[in-house]
Amino acid sequence: MSVSIAINCPSCQEPGKVNIPPDLLTKKSTGLVTVNVPKDFICEHAFQIFIDRNGKVRGYQNVDFQLEMRKEIKETVKSALAELKRTDISIQGIMSIITSNIFLRITKCSLLGIPITIISNNQLLNENLKVTFGEKFPDFAKTQFVNELEYNEEYSWTGLVVDLYFKMVNQDPSLSRFLIGQGLSSDIWRSNDPVTQRVLFQNFVERLNLDYNIIEQILKNEMEKVKLATLGKILEKSFKLKVDRDRLRFLYEMVQFRNPKLAAKVVTFDNRIKSMDLF
Ligand SMILES: [Zn+2]
Repeated sequence: MSVSIAINCPSCQEPGKVNIPPDLLTKKSTGLVTVNVPKDFICEHAFQIFIDRNGKVRGYQNVDFQLEMRKEIKETVKSALAELKRTDISIQGIMSIITSNIFLRITKCSLLGIPITIISNNQLLNENLKVTFGEKFPDFAKTQFVNELEYNEEYSWTGLVVDLYFKMVNQDPSLSRFLIGQGLSSDIWRSNDPVTQRVLFQNFVERLNLDYNIIEQILKNEMEKVKLATLGKILEKSFKLKVDRDRLRFLYEMVQFRNPKLAAKVVTFDNRIKSMDLF
């Protein structure tokens, strides 16, 4: 059984409906559920809708930009799919198949320690994801891989859910923009060498984990509450770490998800950290 929700295309107003497992709405305690509506599902437009827990549509977003991007990299996708026949595909290859957006979401949620579910029928792609993310994130081994045909209402909808075929529901419990990830993705796109791409990815993750460990230590030793900006200054003065605003905000989000008790020690008036903004 699923909940049917009436929607209209934000570009041409064509009416249609999407079916959503009721679980997804009830289990979602905060934020909104994001649904990807692919091209040719209702009309010629691709867009996203945001639904609250009462099944009410709260907003739409066009994804023209992603479509343009995908047109441009059509050839890359073709060669990546051919490459996929081997077991060892480049990160650029993975990004061109599942999109940079989804690659970054998986990276972000892995860093935050959010459980992940991947809906995919492609065994080889799944194996490649396990190798790529498993190297840096031991917990990625717990990722649930679900075949689209195995979908049912008993399905547990927690954590990040991504559908690699863009036909069904996606949800991401962290609603922040992963701004620092965009730098990673452009670095990877600029590199033609698969080894370099892996090193870029691994360094990115390692450095964030190192910074996180330092922040955790600082917060554990602090007796009183610390302002987020002050935390940035401590990192710079005592640890010679220059952390820009976006990075500091993400590190704080890591504390929020990985160690909520410790996050309570941080004072921040930065509302944008909590705001809904998808990349
Ligand atoms: Zn339309």
